[in-house]
Amino acid sequence: MAGNWKMYKTPAETCAFFEKFRPLILQAAHCEIVICPPFTNIPAAVEASRGSAIQVGAQDLYWAKEGAFTGEVSGPMVRAAGASYVIVGHSERRQYFGETSESVLKKTVAALESSLTPIVCVGELLEHRELGKTDAVLCEQCRKGITPLDVRQIVQIVIAYEPVWAIGTGKTATPEIAADAHRLIRREVSAVYGEEVASQIRILYGGSVKPDNVKSLMAQPEIDGALVGGASLDPVSFASIVNYLS
Ligand code: PEP
Repeated sequence: MAGNWKMYKTPAETCAFFEKFRPLILQAAHCEIVICPPFTNIPAAVEASRGSAIQVGAQDLYWAKEGAFTGEVSGPMVRAAGASYVIVGHSERRQYFGETSESVLKKTVAALESSLTPIVCVGELLEHRELGKTDAVLCEQCRKGITPLDVRQIVQIVIAYEPVWAIGTGKTATPEIAADAHRLIRREVSAVYGEEVASQIRILYGGSVKPDNVKSLMAQPEIDGALVGGASLDPVSFASIVNYLS
């Protein structure tokens, strides 16, 4: 269960979140819990999560290790700050910051080289779905951004299916729509690396996941977890998503 905080919260607000969140997830041994705050809050989040099962992730990285790339942050820097995960290719990065499947691939490789687990996002726009192009778009994103990885790399990544029309809109994909997309993505992985590898890959669903819909999504065997935006900002609501089994 991963929380994407996007561009929200200061370091002080990060500490306040952890103070409330930690006691609420003490019993949660069924899943990994990851919080991805803005870069500036990673040290505070790492400190505040010490001694708990919560891991910290970044929301992006640049593929070079260092250099004259003003404004960018590299994998080794994210790792040295104490993070263990990183989101790659979020639709907001694709939409507003020119991220492409080619840059997603480079960033995924860079993340793995820095011992970070990449959460690689794919997903179709509303117009793609309305035009019946969902499968073609997801296949292309997988073929250009994910399946060029070698087998040693693919087994270390997490994939997130995030239909863009469901992100921050309150419109969740039905569990069946999400499961269909997850099956398609897994088929793409299986076509290149075989069924055994494909069955090991964790595929998260993201798009308006809330405490009241997480259970029905997680009831789909194809859905291995959730990438949660808005509802991860509130400790009680993210805890109730993490604790969806109880
Ligand atoms: C996200 O930011 O990855 C996301 C899924 O956002 P939300 O849960 O707010 O739709």
